[in-house]
Amino acid sequence: MDNQQGKGLSFAKRIYLPRVVGMGIGCLSVFAGLYPVQQPSWVWALLLFNGFLWPHLAYLISTRAAFPYQAERRNLWCDSLFGGIWAAAMQFNPLPTVTILAMMAMNNLAAGGLHLFIRGFFAQLGGVLLAWLLLGPAFTGHTTQWQIYACLPMLILYPMALGMVCYQLAIKLFEHKHALRALSRTDSLTGLLNHGAWKDLLHLKFTKCQQQRCQGTIALIDIDHFKRINDSHGHILGDTVLHQLSCDLKHNLRQGDLTGRYGGDEFCVILPATSLQQAREVMERLREVFSHYRHPDIPQLRVSLSIGLAAWHPGLSDAAMWLIEADKALYAAKNSGRNKVASASQESHAFLAAMNDS
Ligand code: GH3
Ligand code: MG
Repeated sequence: MDNQQGKGLSFAKRIYLPRVVGMGIGCLSVFAGLYPVQQPSWVWALLLFNGFLWPHLAYLISTRAAFPYQAERRNLWCDSLFGGIWAAAMQFNPLPTVTILAMMAMNNLAAGGLHLFIRGFFAQLGGVLLAWLLLGPAFTGHTTQWQIYACLPMLILYPMALGMVCYQLAIKLFEHKHALRALSRTDSLTGLLNHGAWKDLLHLKFTKCQQQRCQGTIALIDIDHFKRINDSHGHILGDTVLHQLSCDLKHNLRQGDLTGRYGGDEFCVILPATSLQQAREVMERLREVFSHYRHPDIPQLRVSLSIGLAAWHPGLSDAAMWLIEADKALYAAKNSGRNKVASASQESHAFLAAMNDS
């Protein structure tokens, strides 16, 4: 219900300004249409109420209602009812009538699509019948010169105000789309790229290396005996360790390095334009930095990393194979005692040496 209320409140706030502008300047068009036809004084009082008090009253009603969205839709229905009353009270003087009814139709379409447009049409029809009941049906087929001038502010300013509101809405939607996209690519615990997003980048980098024959190295990083940390100190502390590693990664890698959380306690990095040797130096530094982490409440806690590296070489048929090489290197690091950096097969060394020579 809170969500519904929030949605309704923003809807009511969005409509407030166009209604104040529309009713205020629409009053001028109706005034010009009513003036020559000599309507009773209550019609003039109703016009003043509709033009200058109703927009504020409608806002109060919708923002204080338990269901603001429904209240605002009722308000839009009332707007259309008033529109029908004014069309009949002006005896369907062509330009003022078309001006206010068309602007209302535009407003209803913008606010609620075809459904609200049809509801609004029937409300306008109801307004016409009500006015005919009270004032009697009559028609004026001619619009004078000064009535044309009186309609101009409405014809110019109202579409501008509505256009502005639509533009602001489009900007908000664009921002939300961007935020959602970023969220769908981010690991919530560490703020790094998530598995899917990182793999997409891996495919892109692999293709680039293949096309341009450039250097590039990937690293798979795994926390040693992480399950033990969880089991001994709890998952909250485990999360703190994961977060610490993500901070160390952010602080010890270059801007262009692409870091992600592969899953669980495993992290992954693409180091573009980096040789295996350079990547090894970077990862040794990371391993060193991370091993100095001390938790203030558990000073005896020790952490370490095993890291597998694989450089791109032309023998790789696809990105998956590149990843498999890094994975094998990681398991070599694990199997040879953990807390170390291991590199993929000598094949890539040989290729890079050849590439450096040429
Ligand atoms: P190894 O030294 O061989 O890497 O062993 P390990 O214990 O680090 O690895 P293992 O794969 O056996 O355990 C990883 C654990 O990570 C298991 C899982 O419960 C835990 N884990 C996965 N995701 C999270 C997480 O988001 N938070 C926490 N706290 N733990 C997680
Ligand atoms: Mg582990």
